[in-house]
Amino acid sequence: MKVLVLNSGSSSQKSSLYEIGETVADDPPAFLWEGKIEWHGDIAEAEVKNSRGTVQRSSVQVLSRAEAVEHLLSTLWQDKTRAVASAAEIDVVGHRVVHGGPNYDAPVLVTPEVKAEIAKAAHFAPLHNRAELDGMELVEKLLGPVPQVAVFDTAFHRKMPQAATVYPGPYRWFESGIHRYGFHGVSHQYCAARAAQLLRRDLDSLKVVTCHLGNGCSLAAIHESHSIDTTMGFTPLEGLMMGTRSGSIDPGILTYLIRQGHLRPQEMDDVLNQESGLLGISGISGDMREILASMKQGHARAKLAFDIYVHRLRAAIGAMVAGLGGMDALVFTAGVGENSAEVRDAVCQKLDFLGLKLNATANVQRAPDADIAASDSAVRVLTIRAQEEWAIARECWHLMRRSLRWTPRIPA
Ligand code: AMP
Repeated sequence: MKVLVLNSGSSSQKSSLYEIGETVADDPPAFLWEGKIEWHGDIAEAEVKNSRGTVQRSSVQVLSRAEAVEHLLSTLWQDKTRAVASAAEIDVVGHRVVHGGPNYDAPVLVTPEVKAEIAKAAHFAPLHNRAELDGMELVEKLLGPVPQVAVFDTAFHRKMPQAATVYPGPYRWFESGIHRYGFHGVSHQYCAARAAQLLRRDLDSLKVVTCHLGNGCSLAAIHESHSIDTTMGFTPLEGLMMGTRSGSIDPGILTYLIRQGHLRPQEMDDVLNQESGLLGISGISGDMREILASMKQGHARAKLAFDIYVHRLRAAIGAMVAGLGGMDALVFTAGVGENSAEVRDAVCQKLDFLGLKLNATANVQRAPDADIAASDSAVRVLTIRAQEEWAIARECWHLMRRSLRWTPRIPA
């Protein structure tokens, strides 16, 4: 089965093509084709790779998102990077959908009704959900009536208990959809399953805390294969300090700033989402690599940004462990989680009261996917490469098999 995955951002589009046979491999396979396009104004920059090692970079003028994405997808069946003879070879297209609203707890085949629900949830996540709907329409135009699957980032958290879901404001908030949805679910779910596989344990028997630390950051507490708590909430702004997002702050700051007439809603949105976090404190960058480099040169505010990041991360891990009543495995994933030995070391140092001990050499040297805990650690510590596109492809395969929408092609 050839599965095309679309991961739409507000001004970027990532996409991958995988081939899955009769069974799904345990280890993530190599992609057949992978591409990314980013646009600023009317110029889009694309980078595309295929499994033969061909890499092609291009810069094109575009008038819309649709034109940019069309350019990216055309390299699947054209040019040096071509990975299929024609669009008709693609069996299914999976979409990462950031907000599934209150109803979806699993991937679904895209139908007009599903699109209407995604459009309804768009008022919670306007930039993302609209981009994803655009992607579905473009696939219909370019690939015709191919089955499409929506895989929701909120779905994995839908079984969280109400105590973790409902905000302690007036109950009518909850009734009108203002509650904790959680995000990065595709990544948390994949990491928990992968951790169980690497540890040769049944996920149902494990208590796992997954730390997705990328540009956006969130934790999930996983018990009996379900998310029972997470740090992001109604929006992806709650919880941990992030690259340019503040994470949780006292809501009284906002009402204070409104009363003082300092900030209007759009400005507040910009400050909290784009001018806070590592960037806001350091004044240098939201990229952890630059924070670490500046710290080494003695930059005091870069050091403060790092310290706040670690302090809040450690505190949030503590809260997840308390909710779980223990922890068998702590997983680090995404850009910072996979790559920053400094962050992992600083966070884990004070978790020794749980019997957690890092293997200092493995922490620095071993690339994901790896167990970097000391052999006598009471908690396993794992680095796992984020594989959201592969996780979505796998969900598509399962759904197609279950719904009998696909049988293997018999070789001629
Ligand atoms: P992601 O959203 O998973 O692509 O993560 C992107 C972020 O990962 C970047 O903004 C960096 O802050 C961080 N990152 C990537 N590589 C490294 C590294 N080698 N060390 C520390 N942070 C890194």
